[in-house]
Amino acid sequence: MPSGSLSARDHRKGGRHPRLNADSGRYRYGELTWPEVKEAAQAGRVAVVPIATIEDHGPHLPIDTDLRLCNAVCEEAASRARDRAVVVPAINHGYSPHHLDFPGAISIGAHTLIDYGVDVCRSLAHHGFRKILIVNGHGSNTPFVDVVARLAVVETGVLAAAVNYWAAPGVRAVAESLRESDRIGGMNHACEFETSLYLAIAPELVDMSKAVRELSHRPTENYWTDLIAGDGPLVMMEPWSALSQTGVMGDPTKATAEKGRALLDAAAGGIVTLIDELRARPPAQRKDHH
Ligand SMILES: [Zn+2]
Repeated sequence: MPSGSLSARDHRKGGRHPRLNADSGRYRYGELTWPEVKEAAQAGRVAVVPIATIEDHGPHLPIDTDLRLCNAVCEEAASRARDRAVVVPAINHGYSPHHLDFPGAISIGAHTLIDYGVDVCRSLAHHGFRKILIVNGHGSNTPFVDVVARLAVVETGVLAAAVNYWAAPGVRAVAESLRESDRIGGMNHACEFETSLYLAIAPELVDMSKAVRELSHRPTENYWTDLIAGDGPLVMMEPWSALSQTGVMGDPTKATAEKGRALLDAAAGGIVTLIDELRARPPAQRKDHH
């Protein structure tokens, strides 16, 4: 998208690290050579680690939805902040055992996910990255990426943080301004929000003729769920097949590519804000009071 292209001003900003990006402008970790990785770490660039999952997203969206959307947001963010961030190849698989009644879901265990995430952070810390931002694209990974970030801090001494991309600063306001689906539940899973993003990223893979509105997760007094409006205080997850007939939770019939472009822009901008906030944070001064 045009907003991702580098302006002349961005180029000048990049000039503060003249060794780095003047020639390549590369922001994908996997496309760097090892000397470039070393330079990126020494320049204090933030390592952005996308993490998602593979699971059913209704009859109209591919099972890679969480992964593709999260990658797109992180790629766009790192592209905009290419002088101060790199995007690491994503952790593709996540915690989705409650989705296994639907064909397609690939779930890894909670401990596997935590160990995997911490190992990735440990490797990045070993190469000299001092700031790591884990960007999650799958709701049920949330408690685990929190733990991954905490463990990475404890075990490596670097600053690791985690965020769900839909909770990045600015996204909620944009999503609520665009929302035509139900205030609670309309933006949840394979919904107005995710379908709009997919339409903006790869419309040829979306079959809107099969999009259906489904709001059957049975909210009660303290239990409800919505990606953007937030969840109720009672946190629980029943088998997805008990919550949805189609795999959809929300209203994808209200999705448009135009909304998706606005959401992608907001999410990428929000991640850039977090990259800069992390970069600006001074190293923690630990003091042992024994
Ligand atoms: Zn999803």
